[in-house]
Amino acid sequence: MKVHFIGTCSGTRPKEGMHHCALAFEIDGRYYWFDAGENCSYFAHTNGIDLLNVKAIFISHMHTDHTGGLANLLWTIRKLVVSKKVPYPFGVLPVYVPDLKLFRYIRKVAFAYRKEKTPALRTKGHKIREGLIYKDDKVRISAIHSRHLGESGIFGWHAFGFLIEAEGKRIVYSGDQKTPEDLNKFIDAGCDYFIMETGHHWCQDVCEYAKNHGVKVLRFNHHGRDVFRNREECEEKIKNYDFDIKICYDGMTEEI
Ligand SMILES: [Zn+2]
Repeated sequence: MKVHFIGTCSGTRPKEGMHHCALAFEIDGRYYWFDAGENCSYFAHTNGIDLLNVKAIFISHMHTDHTGGLANLLWTIRKLVVSKKVPYPFGVLPVYVPDLKLFRYIRKVAFAYRKEKTPALRTKGHKIREGLIYKDDKVRISAIHSRHLGESGIFGWHAFGFLIEAEGKRIVYSGDQKTPEDLNKFIDAGCDYFIMETGHHWCQDVCEYAKNHGVKVLRFNHHGRDVFRNREECEEKIKNYDFDIKICYDGMTEEI
């Protein structure tokens, strides 16, 4: 399996060479897409990712740095169906979100004023709840609540992190977190590859957390003040740890 870091920036003003958060896991030619910041479909399409093979989309929370490119992603997949004259290969594209109402607005924008008897691309929104949310023959995906947007409301939690289980590996993607300890349930059961946001955390604190919780590989994305302030200094600090740590950049692809 591969992971593609499509956008590695937190919700800052535009930064040269960086875009808001999006990543995709590639498993046997299928893509499992997490978060959809600005520009994600443009970047993926122009860098060789076949968006027709996006099997499912998962949105950690509805902030713009995670959803700003979602309408365009749906639009682009539909456009490929129409222009290549092939059906979307998986029938219906499921989109997992914490807030279905907001997702429906986004979908309305994506397909505005288009009245098709048979839609070229059918999508279905699913509300994320804690626990196992998705499985197919390649992957199991579970969600755990994050307190990034406060406590649970009447419609449930507003933000989530994810556990991706595939090819015998356990991968944790943080989404945005108030504190990494909220991921303990996933991490402490074994974590082969941990993608953690640094928009709200100091790299060194996350390294300590990962070391103390037996994480094997740590990847930083959703960069914020720590990495912007001095990326070289962060790169130096992570060398003090004897496990595999990297600060990701847009366009980085890795085998897991
Ligand atoms: Zn964010």
